[in-house]
Amino acid sequence: MANPQHGKPGQARPKRGQPPAQQARGQPARRRGVEFGQAMDFLSHTGRYRYFRAGLAWPPDKAPSMALTATPIPCLSDNYAWLLRAADGRLAVCDPAEDAPVAAAVEAMGGKLDLILLTHHHGDHVAGVPGLVARYGAKVVGAAADKHRLPPLDQALAPGDRVDVLGSTAEVLASDGHTRGHIAYHIADSRILLCGDTLFSLGCGRLLEGNAEQMFASLAALAALPGETLVCCGHEYTESNARFAITVEPDNAALWARIAEAKAQRAAGKPTLPSTIASERAANPFVRAADVATLARIRAAKDTFR
Ligand code: ZN
Ligand code: FE
Repeated sequence: MANPQHGKPGQARPKRGQPPAQQARGQPARRRGVEFGQAMDFLSHTGRYRYFRAGLAWPPDKAPSMALTATPIPCLSDNYAWLLRAADGRLAVCDPAEDAPVAAAVEAMGGKLDLILLTHHHGDHVAGVPGLVARYGAKVVGAAADKHRLPPLDQALAPGDRVDVLGSTAEVLASDGHTRGHIAYHIADSRILLCGDTLFSLGCGRLLEGNAEQMFASLAALAALPGETLVCCGHEYTESNARFAITVEPDNAALWARIAEAKAQRAAGKPTLPSTIASERAANPFVRAADVATLARIRAAKDTFR
């Protein structure tokens, strides 16, 4: 059942079944001190270099990259849970709206789930937690400010905290506006942003508990992340956001380009996500709003846009 706070009838429905094979763009592997064919194998289907020990002490002086990949798992009518996978195969998930599709993906990738990250308390982001915890014993982390209305947390986080995610470090960012106590996770070594219902591609979350000032600050903090950062958000809203965005910035060529890209992605049955921070800076009118008043005005207009 779609969350009435989010879903609108008639919105595009993501394809169910197999999780899409979309991967985070990884960092190139370090090659220093290693014979090319001796210690590495290129797995081109992931777009990422994978390391293998080949009887060598690897690496002589540096730890191997532990960067994560992020894959969207369609849940409910238009939600995505984000499955994070470490180079060693360990898994985490952000905002599991349902347990079954997440468990299916976990089973296909080794059958273990170490960690669940939560951005906020809405049912379409947390309802899968009890089932996944019962099945996998995964540790659950979320905002201390939201603790009273989240599933039981093993670690309660505050903005500015750092939390280990499968060997990578996530920085916890304040992300108020959609709800009070909403947080986002930035995993710098993997160029991944898990932003729940704060930033969407070509849109932003509704101001259900917060105000435009808070959302403006939240979006500004996310927009300040490196441009290549992958925007892993909670909903497939891109096409419906595009219809409104184009009324705000009809002459924005980057917006038209993003709309064409999103149309092609959906026509091919693929998610439009992750987007990138650079793309949102160029095309998302909510990110581009010059001041709080402008953001407040377009957010209010979007609320009644048909
Ligand atoms: Zn929400
Ligand atoms: Fe949501």
